[in-house]
Amino acid sequence: MTEAHDKYCLVCKRNDKEVPLINMSYRGGKLWICPQHIPVLIHDPGKLTGTLPGAEGFEPAEE
Ligand SMILES: [Zn+2]
Repeated sequence: MTEAHDKYCLVCKRNDKEVPLINMSYRGGKLWICPQHIPVLIHDPGKLTGTLPGAEGFEPAEE
């Protein structure tokens, strides 16, 4: 069983040498996202469809 140790933003794929990354727990695994892409996760999660499994079911935060 292998596990990726590389940390990179799930949206832009930059690693933690380039940008700060925030760790998220999701479906028993760990995901990383950079501060630049947190708003996408909050306001437009549908954009992550295909990148993040299940993202199409996320509800955008209310304004
Ligand atoms: Zn990013």
